[in-house]
Amino acid sequence: MEIEQGRICIISGPSGAGKTTIYKRLLQEYAWLRYSVSATTRKQREHETDGMDYHFIDDDTFMRLVGENAFAEYAAVHGRRYGTLKSEIEKKAAPGFLCIFDIDVQGAALMLRSYPRALTIFIRPPDLAALESRLSARKTESAESLALRLANAKRELESEGIFEYSVINDDLESAYDTVRNILLRQKGVLDNGSAL
Ligand code: ADP
Ligand code: 5GP
Repeated sequence: MEIEQGRICIISGPSGAGKTTIYKRLLQEYAWLRYSVSATTRKQREHETDGMDYHFIDDDTFMRLVGENAFAEYAAVHGRRYGTLKSEIEKKAAPGFLCIFDIDVQGAALMLRSYPRALTIFIRPPDLAALESRLSARKTESAESLALRLANAKRELESEGIFEYSVINDDLESAYDTVRNILLRQKGVLDNGSAL
């Protein structure tokens, strides 16, 4: 895909680290930011909107899309399938916009093969105890899913090194400011054309 690489921002990190909280606020604040809506086979949560948070699809549809080569990357994460649609990249990573991709560490590694100069940010929790209490307080996961997400967090934290930036989300305001400054710098680079 002929996408200018400076227009892609991959945000990754363990489930419960605070990725969604941070990028949703950024998307509200800046009209030049866009969000790549992934496809997933996991169940829709109560507050989520189909087509905005995810494209919620069943396994058969997901596998049909795999067969049609519709994904830029896809992976099994926490026992479900998730994938980045090529059509989202084409639509959202357009001139004048910076497109955010919330994808897991496997997906990030795959995307980096196609877009080696993509901006990459890892959001990490202060520690695993904070992650557990945030995930429990969010009340979106069954006991089984919560345990799986915590177990996977340890492995995900080991992949932090592949990301250009690592931001600890301890105090939300300061994590938000840090991510915002990274994106504003990237926007400045995009505007004067030197990222490309
Ligand atoms: P992720 O998208 O990485 O899975 P979320 O953004 O859903 O994580 O955050 C997980 C939960 O933790 C949410 O309920 C959110 O409100 C809360 N949260 C996010 N950042 C912080 C923080 N710095 N301190 C305490 N709670 C937080
Ligand atoms: P959740 O189920 O909490 O929304 O997301 C679980 C995990 O799936 C998160 O780590 C998130 O980054 C990841 N994820 C979401 N969309 C994609 C995607 O399109 N591809 C990949 N590889 N991971 C994704």
